[in-house]
Amino acid sequence: MRVHAFHRLYQQRLERSTKPFNARGCKVDRCQHCQVSVTYCICHYQPDIETDVAVMLLVSDNEVFKPSNTGRLILDTVKEGYAFQWSRTEPSKDMLDLLNDPRYQPIVVFPDEYVDDKQRLIQGEPQPFCQGKTPLLIFLDGSWREARRIFRKSPYLDSLPVLSIKPESLSQYMMRRSDNEQHLATAEVACLVLKEMRQDVAALTLANWFDAFKESYLLSKSRGKVDPQRPALKRFIEQQQNEKSV
Ligand SMILES: [Zn+2]
Repeated sequence: MRVHAFHRLYQQRLERSTKPFNARGCKVDRCQHCQVSVTYCICHYQPDIETDVAVMLLVSDNEVFKPSNTGRLILDTVKEGYAFQWSRTEPSKDMLDLLNDPRYQPIVVFPDEYVDDKQRLIQGEPQPFCQGKTPLLIFLDGSWREARRIFRKSPYLDSLPVLSIKPESLSQYMMRRSDNEQHLATAEVACLVLKEMRQDVAALTLANWFDAFKESYLLSKSRGKVDPQRPALKRFIEQQQNEKSV
């Protein structure tokens, strides 16, 4: 398994924290990397694919400790991934350096209706917009309320272009979904964005990886309600084998 920036952020925060973070379901003996119970750990299956994009997660408050976090799954899928603790007053220097690195075109992923300056919105194809630079997709990882706060209160994001999911792909996706959850998980947003960035293999890989994670995560806490045959994990493995044989 490849240890990535989200895992490292988790370890750093753990070492620095004075009191334990009591996540719901903290009695479960979880794998430190995938946060699924040790019995159903999925780390062995972590995706191993290449992409033409980089990803930066700006992680809110205690999001890094939430076992249900899905930003982690994006960095499982996109190998060039960065994760930084968000701070309103003390932004990380490494993060600012990355935003100013001429090799990258940073792009904030956020819904267009919350963007006051509509000039910031990327219209049309996002890939040509980057003019040969590596797109650095920035996801605000936290609850919806926290994500909005990060978007509003981070001056270093203010001048960056914003990519929003097209309404038609969003509604198509919402129709296929089985639950009625109104807001998408960070990994689900990333699936749609990767698709818009023409990273089809990565988009499909992340979608299946997200399903496999959700299944194993639920299996960890509610035995009996989830199919122990793990059909989502099987679908993920099958798709990865297909990609390799193409
Ligand atoms: Zn694991």
